[in-house]
Formats: sequence, structure tokens, C-alpha cells
Amino acid sequence: NPRVGVLALQGDVREHVRILTALGAEAVLVRRPAELATVAGLVLPGGESSVIDKLARAFGLRVPIREAIAGGLPVYGTCAGMILLADRIVDGIDGQQTFGGLDVTVRRNAFGSQVDSFEADLDVPALGDPPVRAVFIRAPVVEKLGPGAEALATLADGRVVAVAQGRLMATSFHPEMSGEDRFHRRLLDIVTA
Ligand code: GLN
Repeated sequence: NPRVGVLALQGDVREHVRILTALGAEAVLVRRPAELATVAGLVLPGGESSVIDKLARAFGLRVPIREAIAGGLPVYGTCAGMILLADRIVDGIDGQQTFGGLDVTVRRNAFGSQVDSFEADLDVPALGDPPVRAVFIRAPVVEKLGPGAEALATLADGRVVAVAQGRLMATSFHPEMSGEDRFHRRLLDIVTA
């Protein structure tokens, strides 16, 4: 069983642990570098990216996570996790930093206060049928994709809300909140490939 970490500093850690466990992975809560060193893949949960960034620096995890990503660790980020994987962000707060790895520009809270939260059925060709029930909560969008990054899903208006690059994957939405497990399956496929 692959050991897959969930960065457990803040956010919806439990939901990811539940899906990973249901898929047969050994889910490991990652709060320190020694725990990170034991995992073959990592999930960055939803939550508040600026808080996760601050805590990651305080816990001495920022540099080890950046090195792990550069070394090819498979990582899946949802919502705040997408922000943390982006090489560039728009509308960060407080000198917010990211781990980076995805050659994209991501805008935080891209849907404004009028539509804080919504759900949509999304076509994700890489996952096949049926469409993904996607839960968006103060969600980011991918504003620009660099040449290495690939869009996995777009909203009807064309905005990119799921992206992949090498062993990295990120979604603006929360599959872990609608019982959707195919993104986590894809992560495990990459981990065990
Ligand atoms: N708005 C949050 C942020 O900027 C993300 C929200 C979420 O993860 N649901 O980090």
C-alpha cells in the first residue's frame, strides 16, 4: 500500500484521509519534515492558502516540500492546495508565498463575494464519464498556463479549474467533498507507476 501524505497544518485534512484510506492507501498526516520524508505522494488540502503557507514556514516544511516537488514527488492540490502549487499567484495576501511547481498563474478567490460557493458538473476528459460533481468554495482559477501545464477541465465560460503537469495535479474545487475519488485514484496511479 502506497504511503501518501496529507499536509495537515490547516484545512480539510480528514476528507482527504478518508478517500485515500478508502482507496487502499496508507494516509499519513504530514506536519514535519521527518513525516514528509516517508511518503510516496502528497495531498495539499483545501483551507486558507496564506495560513498554510505561514504554518509551513513555521514548521520548517516549506523548503523540504519545494525540494520534494523538484525531486518528482507526486502531489495533488485542491483549492488552497492549487494556490500553493502555483508558480505565480494574483491577489495573495501578506506577502504570501507558494511552494510552486505548476507553471501557472492562479487567482485567489476568483469568483468574488457574490458567488462564494457553488457546484457544477464538469467534464474532465482525462477521467472519462460521468462528469465530476465539483464543489467550489471561495475558489481560485488558473488565469494563465505556461507551456508545460495542461488544462484538465474548464468551466462553461472557459476558465481553467483543473490542471496537470508531470506528477503534479491541482483542482480549484473539492472532489473530496462530493464523494468524487477519481482525482485521488489518478494520484495513486502516478505514485505506483
Ligand atoms: N480562498 C482560499 C485561499 O485563498 C481557498 C479556499 C478553499 O480552499 N476552499 O486559500
